[in-house]
Amino acid sequence: MRVVISADMEGTCGVVSWVQVTPPEGANGDPVNSVEYERTRARMTAEVNAAIAGAIAGGATEVIVNDSHDGMRNLLPDALDPRARLITGNDKPLSMAQGVDLAEVGCFFYTGYHAKAGSPAAPLAHTWTGWLNDVRFDGLSTGEFGINAAVAGHFGVPVTLVAGDDQAVAQTQTLLGDQVQGAVVKQGLSTFAALHLHPARARDLIQSAAEEAVRRASAARPYLLPKGCRVELEFDHQARADQAILIPGIERAGARTVAWTPTDGRELMRTFRAAVKAAAIRMSP
Ligand SMILES: [Zn+2]
Repeated sequence: MRVVISADMEGTCGVVSWVQVTPPEGANGDPVNSVEYERTRARMTAEVNAAIAGAIAGGATEVIVNDSHDGMRNLLPDALDPRARLITGNDKPLSMAQGVDLAEVGCFFYTGYHAKAGSPAAPLAHTWTGWLNDVRFDGLSTGEFGINAAVAGHFGVPVTLVAGDDQAVAQTQTLLGDQVQGAVVKQGLSTFAALHLHPARARDLIQSAAEEAVRRASAARPYLLPKGCRVELEFDHQARADQAILIPGIERAGARTVAWTPTDGRELMRTFRAAVKAAAIRMSP
């Protein structure tokens, strides 16, 4: 059985600040503290290695790791467990869920995951970008964990592991059920504060959860977007909705909200990314 890991960064043990997860190219030309970022890359890679070790102990025959944060060049290839292969770089057609379309993928893991936009007491909670206030499936608020689960579900692949802060784990399990093993590496105190496990204990937790996640994968069910599901994107500003509705099929559903009905999980990702790219406008003249 092949296992695919979607490795995000904000949910890594020890992380509470954007400074810790911003690559050298920076965001909007802001200065970057590369010392903090380099430390986080190493800790993120070690957490992914724990998930790889657990997956193989649980019976996986191959592990594919998909770097899923920012420019998607965060994991340190030389430090990665040599039993895995690594997908890096942006843009990928399936983005954070790249790899789930490969043959014989038995389950999909989330590591370094964070809570959805608008979650209080959840470190760096957001959905895709800082200016998307909410994503809803038939009115149900969701986050990256929901979007990526729908993509994997389209290819018949269930999510069976989530590692991250307490709310990232709880939100994923609320949507997908207790077939998802959870590894809580920190308890959120605010958007920029958390109570952390020691990183070594976080890795142990991830490894044992990953092993269980593979052992139980055959009983897990893929998440399918409900038939005829209406997907809503609520932006922080009406000007972003003005841009998103230029995409055929997307219509206005409120002052700052747009909506469409994807045909399936793969189409959800395609149109979602097109809408977010269209809406990524400069808000100052
Ligand atoms: Zn991220």
